[in-house]
Amino acid sequence: MPFKIHSFSRSNVSDSIIHTKISNLKGKEILQVSRIGKMLDFILDDGRHILSHLGMTGAWVINKNKIIQKHTHLQFKGESDGKEYYLAYVDPRRFGHMYLYDEKQAQKKLAELGTDMKSPEFTFEYFKRALQKYPERLLKVTLLDQKLFAGSGNYIANEICARGGVLPNRQVKTLKVSEIKKLYNAVHLVLDDSIDSGGATFQGGYQDANGDKGEGVKGLVVFYQKTCQLCQKTPVIKIVLAQRGTYYCPKCQK
Ligand SMILES: [Zn+2]
Repeated sequence: MPFKIHSFSRSNVSDSIIHTKISNLKGKEILQVSRIGKMLDFILDDGRHILSHLGMTGAWVINKNKIIQKHTHLQFKGESDGKEYYLAYVDPRRFGHMYLYDEKQAQKKLAELGTDMKSPEFTFEYFKRALQKYPERLLKVTLLDQKLFAGSGNYIANEICARGGVLPNRQVKTLKVSEIKKLYNAVHLVLDDSIDSGGATFQGGYQDANGDKGEGVKGLVVFYQKTCQLCQKTPVIKIVLAQRGTYYCPKCQK
């Protein structure tokens, strides 16, 4: 359903998120929103795009009343189907990025994104080739590379390593094909679990159209766990890898 923008406002700290001038939006319509990993693409009726990368804690919220949540950085007032709505971008930690681009700029930006882990193009062959692109890198670092894997994130990368039975700090060149296969299957297990729990990700992430926060991810096996949920007995080890909290089970992962 198109959303016609009547007016908009932005927070005084939104400059760290919104990297382009936001202008000439009054009277424009958002025709369509699509999602590539953590990037949302709002297509406007004048051919421009609002690209919104959600970062770690970004979310779009739509509501009939003005959104007064803390950390609301951009808010549109407008209408859809004859009713008034507010559409807002909320991001407590401000790791998100937003751009208002013309068609050409938008396509260039979108082309920099990797294949969405949920899309049909995300095949085993793609996964293997993408991993092996940087043989010296540590597995988890590559799993977090948005230019290879759109839609990945810290908890997802941790959980893929756990369910794939591979330590996050293994160098990619040491992985056997059988291990890459297990990791590939793990991607689907992890993402299916996050979809079943309302698409909500741990520590923020996405909110549904009502602005309700999901209950968080169910079925986490190591991330923020004290005991590994795969073997149910080994204490989970936490390390910091590439500045991100990294969790693994020393028994289940090799
Ligand atoms: Zn375990």
